[in-house]
Amino acid sequence: MATFQILTFGCQMNVNDSDWLANVLLAHGHHRTDQNAAQCIFLNTCSVREKPEQKVRSTVQQILNTRKQNPPELIAVLGCVAQQLGEDFFALSPRLRLVAGPDGLPKVPGLVDELLAEPQLKISLLDFTKSYEEREEGLALPTGPTAYVNIMQGCDNFCTYCIVPFTRGRQKSRSFSAIMAECRRKIALGACEITLLGQNVNAYGCDRHAQQARARGEDFPSFAQLLREIAALPGLKRLRYTSPHPKDMREEDIAAFGCLPALCPQLHLPLQSGSSRVLARMGRGYDRERYAELVRGLRHVRSDLALSTDIIVGFPGENDADLEATLSLMEESQFLSSFSFCYSDRPGARAVTFLDKIPKDLQHARLIRVQNLQDELQKQLLQQRVGTSTEVLLETPSRRWTRAGYAWQGRDPYGTLVHVAFEQEGEHQGELVAAHITEAGSHCLFAHRETANDRNDR
Ligand code: SF4
Repeated sequence: MATFQILTFGCQMNVNDSDWLANVLLAHGHHRTDQNAAQCIFLNTCSVREKPEQKVRSTVQQILNTRKQNPPELIAVLGCVAQQLGEDFFALSPRLRLVAGPDGLPKVPGLVDELLAEPQLKISLLDFTKSYEEREEGLALPTGPTAYVNIMQGCDNFCTYCIVPFTRGRQKSRSFSAIMAECRRKIALGACEITLLGQNVNAYGCDRHAQQARARGEDFPSFAQLLREIAALPGLKRLRYTSPHPKDMREEDIAAFGCLPALCPQLHLPLQSGSSRVLARMGRGYDRERYAELVRGLRHVRSDLALSTDIIVGFPGENDADLEATLSLMEESQFLSSFSFCYSDRPGARAVTFLDKIPKDLQHARLIRVQNLQDELQKQLLQQRVGTSTEVLLETPSRRWTRAGYAWQGRDPYGTLVHVAFEQEGEHQGELVAAHITEAGSHCLFAHRETANDRNDR
């Protein structure tokens, strides 16, 4: 049996994949240990951020440098960057002997013993599968109060700045029965909040794979039907999903926020730009007006809905008026938070060929304007909640509480991190508590457990 460590880069889907890999390796009898001692090191990579290839190369180099006396027997590169660069990574080191793209991941645990037994063996798993491949279940470990469930792989959209459809392949929706079985399993293991994951999560059931399954008579619901089925599972208190695509947001998806009590009033809806001209060049499939209409529709159904978003500044050809359009739509949408980045080329993406690139210093100046506005919006929105009550799902003891006393932290239905003070020390993981908000931080809220006095004051 071997010892292993997994280093994860990137989004929640990658974190979820790494959790699955660790769980199955444990089920196979391997042991997790320190990065400086592990026989096998897995790098689960992401191609969304800038210069991902260099990041993988420098991490491998750093491992080899710090472990000259006891080098790992196996280094594996997994995920999107492995898919992109493939066997080129083998040249980095004789210890780097496994590359596996996202669709090759399910086979990885079964190859570890073979690779350790044959030190010359190198394996690449880079083929895309035709349908969503179910994975080995692994150990039935307690999940904690929150859990993630994958409902699809890949993407069919080909936004001009993105290479995900090339690194994760075309969209493949997971079967309804497998999703429901995993949700039930996670609830039985302790989860009361589930977040559904997918690159384009609300396009669930719209891909060719799902259509073929329906034609064969298989039960393949729409995204809204799937939400209804999961929300009704006994034991589930909260349901979220990420990330939806604005162009795939249907009336029934919007209506779900008004009729499914378990569906949290929180949505991460990637905007990317507030300029219709830039959105068209990005190939996003919606314009400014459509996005604004969606926000109005969502708030009509749930006026308290907390919205967050992604924004790219400095996309090729973006001018000052385009930036102003982004800023004004941010204000109109009242985003609680956003992830904002400067555009940069991803080799293989269509926008690489666009000639009207924006200079780096101008991109950064625009990014600061976006981030300053976001900070201001967040501050105002959090401040408005002081004096109100909320419900917090407690996950861990709080590290941010600065005053005397005991505190736990967790998320409220809006996805905001809340630190809740208790009068006495105690174990609270998994408790849903009513909390009275006393103070707003820059990115979180401070509260105490709600008392009868707080309720009388309302
Ligand atoms: S929707 Fe666009 S940005 Fe998102 S993964 Fe697909 S191609 Fe990339």
